[in-house]
Amino acid sequence: MNGSPLALLGGEPAITVPGPHFTWPVIAEPDREAVAAQLEAAVSIPDRSGVVADFEDALASYLGVRHVATTCTGTAALHSMYAAAGIGPGDEVIVPALTFHATATPLFHLGAHPVLADVDDRGQLDLGDAAHRITARTRAVVAVHLWGLPEDMDALVSFADGHGLILLEDGSHAHGATWSGRRTGTFGAASAFSLNGPKPLSAGEGGFVATDDNELYYRVLLHGQYNKRCRREIPAGHPLARFAVTGMGLKLRIHPLAASLAHAQLPRLDGYLAGRQAIAARMCAALDGVPGIRVPHVPVSARPSWYALPLRYEPTELGGLPLQKFLDAVHAEGATEADQPGSTCPLGTHPLFQTPGALLPGYADGQDPAVGGFPSAEYVHATTFKLPVWHCEEDVRLADAYTAALAKVASHAKDLL
Ligand SMILES: *Cc1c(COP(=O)(O)O)cnc(C)c1O
Repeated sequence: MNGSPLALLGGEPAITVPGPHFTWPVIAEPDREAVAAQLEAAVSIPDRSGVVADFEDALASYLGVRHVATTCTGTAALHSMYAAAGIGPGDEVIVPALTFHATATPLFHLGAHPVLADVDDRGQLDLGDAAHRITARTRAVVAVHLWGLPEDMDALVSFADGHGLILLEDGSHAHGATWSGRRTGTFGAASAFSLNGPKPLSAGEGGFVATDDNELYYRVLLHGQYNKRCRREIPAGHPLARFAVTGMGLKLRIHPLAASLAHAQLPRLDGYLAGRQAIAARMCAALDGVPGIRVPHVPVSARPSWYALPLRYEPTELGGLPLQKFLDAVHAEGATEADQPGSTCPLGTHPLFQTPGALLPGYADGQDPAVGGFPSAEYVHATTFKLPVWHCEEDVRLADAYTAALAKVASHAKDLL
């Protein structure tokens, strides 16, 4: 096939099966049954009962944490986590410069300042750069396990401990991933996860906060789960109990139908991840050594959840062919799911991070313009494209066809110059 001309130049495409080639989540019979049954049981759950309790119990035992509180979105989970950790006006929180914006944006609603720190050449938080950005107002640092590849949690735990910072995690790409055998989302004082559509564990829309800390858990409840849940769960003698009826005034509960979908999916998660592990390894083996493409380095301690397979593009090895042209040719080969991350990009490029005061009056003085200050985040973003990671036997041929399509374009790159 590598001998045939590029499809972009009139040759036969490598893949002729029409797309989409990847859809997520898998909706199986148990999911349909669970959601249909929930429709009859309850469509609003104001306390920790029914499917909400069952799902939170299942998540807590899956992760090995004491408490889980579900929320309507991952963004809401992050908001509740920061509020519960006591992040408030003027506080600074170190966030990687390369992540999805919702890792940081809830901080604006607490009067706090996301302080962006650059990433290293693998896209992980650069602790040297982060250390330079610590001030007397720095309260916490956030680990984001981008694309499901765990951060070096040994390094992050000792960084946070060494600087007296609260370690928090955004596990939205990394349900079920592990570092040294321990699940991501269990290293920090608390973690927040999205259960949005394409995430490794999906409720369609939803999220949750996980923590071992009772007080932090009560504050998560007070932030977004007011009245019945707070009244039933915060012990009567606890100083926070008197706030139960109003909490902090927000209502961020998960929908019971969403909870039932994710609850039905959870028992299958480890099987999906094992399948992704095998196919990601196969794709990396096929792409290793293809000019212009670098497969991700997976440390021995890391077992990723492979939300996506991030590949690095090295144009110098392909005569300077721009990534966009390379991807145009890849798409013409029929590998239509290959793409450049869109909204997961250097946060300083978003107007909200440059001039938050334009939308949020408390920030009238503005943040330091973050543009241009994060050379590594910009470089990593500009040279990354990603592929889906499939999980089942039937998709192995498709995965092979994708890696073959990339290899074909790489071997014909000179035809595009
Ligand atoms: C998806 C995502 C979020 C936000 O979750 P929603 O459920 O979409 O609100 C936050 N952080 C990261 C890293 C994400 O991928």
